[in-house]
Amino acid sequence: EQMKWGRPTVAAVNLEAIRENVRNTARMAGPDTGVIAVVKADGYGHGAARVAEAALEAGALMLAVATPDEAVELREAGLEADILLLGASPVPFARVAAEKDIIITADSPAWMEQVAADAPDFARPLRVHLKVDTGMGRIGVRSGEDLIRMYRAARAAKIRVDGVFTHFATADEPDNEVWRKQASGFREAVAMLPERPRLVHASNSAATFMHPECRFDAVRLGISMYGIAPSGFVGEHLPFPLSPALTLSTELVHVKRIGRGDTVSYGATYQASGDEWVGTLPIGYADGFLRGLGGQDVLIGGRRCPVVGRICMDQSMVRLPREMEPGEPVVLLGRQGGEEIRPDEWAKRLGTIPYEVVVTLSKRIPRVYL
Ligand code: PLP
Repeated sequence: EQMKWGRPTVAAVNLEAIRENVRNTARMAGPDTGVIAVVKADGYGHGAARVAEAALEAGALMLAVATPDEAVELREAGLEADILLLGASPVPFARVAAEKDIIITADSPAWMEQVAADAPDFARPLRVHLKVDTGMGRIGVRSGEDLIRMYRAARAAKIRVDGVFTHFATADEPDNEVWRKQASGFREAVAMLPERPRLVHASNSAATFMHPECRFDAVRLGISMYGIAPSGFVGEHLPFPLSPALTLSTELVHVKRIGRGDTVSYGATYQASGDEWVGTLPIGYADGFLRGLGGQDVLIGGRRCPVVGRICMDQSMVRLPREMEPGEPVVLLGRQGGEEIRPDEWAKRLGTIPYEVVVTLSKRIPRVYL
């Protein structure tokens, strides 16, 4: 699947790792809790359709995305599973959602009433999940009154209320007051509904692991399905090891010897203190190997080698332990020999979270599937 004239730079996605993470989570959650595979942002940079298929093969109950386009793209890729659109939808999208059997999120009474007004001539019955904002402060209703108003507007228009959900702001931290308030607020909200919808769900990856009592009918599994811990804290408390799915690799395309005083890359910020071997990698910040990663190690010959000088748009340089040939394999994320570099390591260097590392890997890097 690699482009014929492409660079050697590829992101290999091990679909068996995805399946394993889904299976382990499903086993842990038990038979009464389904797994909703979150494949927004092109499957956290791994490729939404392929990840979705793998997750469904491993027993996932349904899929979730963030935007209308993402939902439509999955349908157009031939996926027939239930798809939940987690974000807000423009009112006119409800008609398309009904036609394509995409489940959309109702996040306010006003939105629901406008959609209800259009619903009588939808091609098929629309399904919605009601969103309750219990403390995230993003989308959803913040009072029982609004929740009931939204529910009634849907039912009056024969829109199916298939689920109700909330989202936690602090599930990746040690047990805390914000989390407890959200969990109890959600229970109260669900109890107010005249009928319990088929799917009550609240937990992202972190909550799935840290708060078993809040797994309800389904958990929304994002980051950990890709084999990445949601935070360092959760990483230390995982009930089973996660299998990282993505390996980012390339090859040396150029090797040279430089001498004392020679400089490397823009700004001449790196200066050799003696004779050394420097290799060039065909990957740069336009690929998501961000400039802020200067000094980051890559794996070559089973050893860690540091990036030297500034990362360029399309290329970057590394210091080699010895002379090597162009074509030498290089791993930027993943394992080589006994060494491993995980997205968390990049995230620490960048002052961000591993989510941002994987979604930033750009389209220019071909995804290949194992
Ligand atoms: N549910 C909602 C509403 C989300 O926005 C997200 C992603 O941020 C998830 C679930 C999945 O979260 P995570 O990737 O932490 O498992």
